[in-house]
Amino acid sequence: MNTVTRPRILVVGAGFAGVECVRRLERKLSPDEADVTLVTPFAYQLYLPLLPQVASGVLTPQSIAVSLRRSKRYRTRIIPGGAIGVDLKSKVCVIRTITDRILDEPYDYIVLAPGSITRTFDIPGLTDHAFGMKTLAEAAYIRDHVIAQLDLADASQDPAERASRLQFVVVGGGYAGTETAACLQRLTHAAVKRYPRLDPGLIKWHLIDIAPKLMPELGEKLGRSAQEILRRRGIEISLGVSIAKAGPEEVTFTDGRVIPTRTLIWTAGVVASPLIATLDAETVKGRLAVTAEMCLPGHDGVFALGDSAAVPDLAKGQEGAVCPPTAQHAMRQGRHVADNVIATLRGQAMRPYVHKDLGLVVDLGGRDAVSKPLGVELRGLPAQAVARGYHWSALRTNVAKTRVMTNWLLNAVAGDDFVRTGFQARKPAKLKDFEYTDAYLTPEQVRAHVAGTARLDR
Ligand SMILES: Cc1cc2nc3c(=O)[nH]c(=O)nc-3n(C[C@H](O)[C@H](O)[C@H](O)COP(=O)(O)OP(=O)(O)OC[C@H]3O[C@@H](n4cnc5c(N)ncnc54)[C@H](O)[C@@H]3O)c2cc1C
Repeated sequence: MNTVTRPRILVVGAGFAGVECVRRLERKLSPDEADVTLVTPFAYQLYLPLLPQVASGVLTPQSIAVSLRRSKRYRTRIIPGGAIGVDLKSKVCVIRTITDRILDEPYDYIVLAPGSITRTFDIPGLTDHAFGMKTLAEAAYIRDHVIAQLDLADASQDPAERASRLQFVVVGGGYAGTETAACLQRLTHAAVKRYPRLDPGLIKWHLIDIAPKLMPELGEKLGRSAQEILRRRGIEISLGVSIAKAGPEEVTFTDGRVIPTRTLIWTAGVVASPLIATLDAETVKGRLAVTAEMCLPGHDGVFALGDSAAVPDLAKGQEGAVCPPTAQHAMRQGRHVADNVIATLRGQAMRPYVHKDLGLVVDLGGRDAVSKPLGVELRGLPAQAVARGYHWSALRTNVAKTRVMTNWLLNAVAGDDFVRTGFQARKPAKLKDFEYTDAYLTPEQVRAHVAGTARLDR
């Protein structure tokens, strides 16, 4: 017999938005007011903005993976798995656990915060041959892969193989791509000194973007400064250019150049999690269309936020403006949506989300950075201090703060290390292997499964 009468709140996704929401619900709701459940494939919240520093080895992977079980006060029930479909009518979320079991989880309130995945296009060879920069496994894997290229080039007698192993291509001139190219270029630049047989001149990093500018949010002058820093370091920047074709040993640019390379890192934007499409509801460029209160119109108790939702940006004051997919918004929306869920539970009025953007910080590794906090343009060490100070203070727990600070200090004193830990399997893993994009159901499959007319066993 089911004796549970408390409202069931189900939060999907333990990222910036989901974790902030859950922690606020735990703090503000008494245990007998509601049951809170979190669905997440991983046992940590990933601090994504520092991922390029994991790829370059400045930070260890564990230091940016903040445990979901750090405190005894955390009382949320955690289901280890991923939501693969939501039936809004029956109020059931279909979950595939990490052991591939299918669970139907009923809810009274659902908070959808599954974030985004790497946006890819129909470019021949792209998903088979590119890496993304969205998961901890990808960052650690890319580090191993890059160091392996130096090892293999060093061992090779074939000039063509050497040349292709020592060229690296990053697509995407947003902060993720720019920081990734900058941090990894520093790694190879420092590492090559330990390979006396390798000509450092053969190492070449390309950063390309179809847009005419890198990180347009930085503005004209600061954007130019970032480009100058990267060019000074030898990174070749090509704007107005994308990829026409990707292969295992070369990449063809849309301007006709063919670059011999075994490393293509694709960071050309993100798109909402495929979970959103299973709802069969209105979207804005793939993100779930929600109100300023982060509710799905026409469906009581359904909330969405973060990268997966198009939350109106009321601070901009422009018709149709939606909040950009940034951690800055996702964290604040998480806390705000928790307040709105609680208000609904208690029969109170919800409040719209309003937040004015605080600016942007871009860590280019070492002493190089550009930042624009509250519109003030900074370069060099002051920009780096702001960038690292911002990220450091945004880390959720003291243990994560200590780990990150210790890693930074250690790196400043002892420099980089170039250990390859051995992730390199015979068959290299690429973008499509890391983001599980083929796990989701269609809206029809969700309905048929919940109605009991279809089985989901693989
Ligand atoms: C390399 C990089 C650098 C960045 N730098 C910055 C920066 O400097 N400043 C900034 O503001 N933003 C930055 N961002 C963007 C920022 O990280 C995102 O906007 C932010 O993480 C969005 O938060 P979210 O909670 O919506 O999604 P996420 O933080 O991505 O969290 C989503 C969570 O949901 C989980 N999940 C996914 N699918 C499912 C499912 N089906 N079921 C259950 N769980 C699921 C994921 O595992 C993840 O834990 C960066 C992003 C990247 C990739």
